[in-house]
Amino acid sequence: MAKTQMIGISNDFHAAASSARAKVLRDGRLYLSQGQVARIRRELCGLDGCTCGGELGERGRQGYEITPDYDTRLGGLRGAYLTARV
Ligand SMILES: [Zn+2]
Repeated sequence: MAKTQMIGISNDFHAAASSARAKVLRDGRLYLSQGQVARIRRELCGLDGCTCGGELGERGRQGYEITPDYDTRLGGLRGAYLTARV
């Protein structure tokens, strides 16, 4: 079974927080699926047209460096990589 790790992301504009069980990749980075990213976005902001946060709806200081994983062929977001800040 794949290793997972609970992560927390927050939005200090809407005073919202969300968490998910990220997959731990071989190189140590964490990965959130497209579905997890969509749910986190919904929980942190969820307002159409709101530009308060980043790709995950995050805003303010996070414990992770967030790198969106764009599908270069089909376009759109298919997930996100997270790297714990040191
Ligand atoms: Zn918002």
